[in-house]
Amino acid sequence: NADAAMYRVKQSGRNGYSFYAPEMQAQSVRYLQLAGALRQALQRDELQLHYQPQLSIRDGRVVGAEALLRWRHPEWGMVSPAEFIPIAEESGLITPIGEWVIRTAVRQMKAWRARGLPEMPVAVNLSAVQFRQENITELITRILDEEGLPYHLLELELTEAVAMDDAQRAVRIMDSLHEQGIRMSIDDFGTGYSSLSYLKKFKVSKLKIDQSFVRDLDEDPEDKTIVGTIIHMAASLGMKTIAEGVETASQLAFLRLHGCDEVQGFYFSKPLPAGQFEAFARSNGSDTTPRLSEETVQ
Ligand code: C2E
Ligand code: MG
Ligand code: MG
Ligand code: MG
Repeated sequence: NADAAMYRVKQSGRNGYSFYAPEMQAQSVRYLQLAGALRQALQRDELQLHYQPQLSIRDGRVVGAEALLRWRHPEWGMVSPAEFIPIAEESGLITPIGEWVIRTAVRQMKAWRARGLPEMPVAVNLSAVQFRQENITELITRILDEEGLPYHLLELELTEAVAMDDAQRAVRIMDSLHEQGIRMSIDDFGTGYSSLSYLKKFKVSKLKIDQSFVRDLDEDPEDKTIVGTIIHMAASLGMKTIAEGVETASQLAFLRLHGCDEVQGFYFSKPLPAGQFEAFARSNGSDTTPRLSEETVQ
């Protein structure tokens, strides 16, 4: 994948530009364009967080949200985070942007609290670069202190690949966040070659089953086996599971049968602007998507 290749090249050194293969030329122009525009996106107020509901599979209640970054460029429109997050990481912009994401999510939780919305944790994605930041625990607790939000309401998502890339560091950071009462979950689980001996040392509350396994759950017997195995393994390690990318009733039925705890996906709701998330959470999804609640009530 060219994106990943470019990212590796650029990671290999500050002067990585000269290593570009010719076929990457077009992409590197796009890269420079995006990096330049992203630099101004924060000041110009072009970034926004959307919140995707996470539902308890047992009773259909909204029990949390994942904050997902959105960038609307004035001319190009929406730029996908899959495209601009790697650029933000390489250019160092992920540091101010990542801090903005945490602070914005924390402020949003405060606002929802003040408006009497039932308390629920909001999960924020941590990038590889943020995770490697020396003072990441202090940065996060400082923001929570400054905003006056209880620590247990913030959850941090780290991908399995990033966690395993430096597993010893991951254990240390998870320990210190856990000590502070901040929750962690492992994102895109199943794609990152976990060493089970490390997994048991990770102080995480949830494994997020990667959507690539959920997508073909109806047709692919191997994905069924993988998803079932992840759920059972997590349970025996004392972790919860949440399935990402749930889009159909039969995926939901399979996940329920195998004891998955929570679900997140377009079947229930796409990521929503804060106001719409609040309405969804207040109705517990009942007017927008009766699916889970109906099925549960029977
Ligand atoms: P992720 O953390 O694994 O987020 C889940 C992605 O799946 C989101 O894409 C979400 O919109 C999408 N999704 C949710 N339900 C469904 C579904 O039913 N079907 C399908 N096909 N997709 C679904 P999004 O928002 O485009 O984000 C892509 C990735 O960008 C995220 O993957 C995450 O790795 C990264 N990202 C997004 N926001 C942030 C951020 O604030 N900081 C960092 N570091 N990374 C972020
Ligand atoms: Mg995530
Ligand atoms: Mg994910
Ligand atoms: Mg992902």
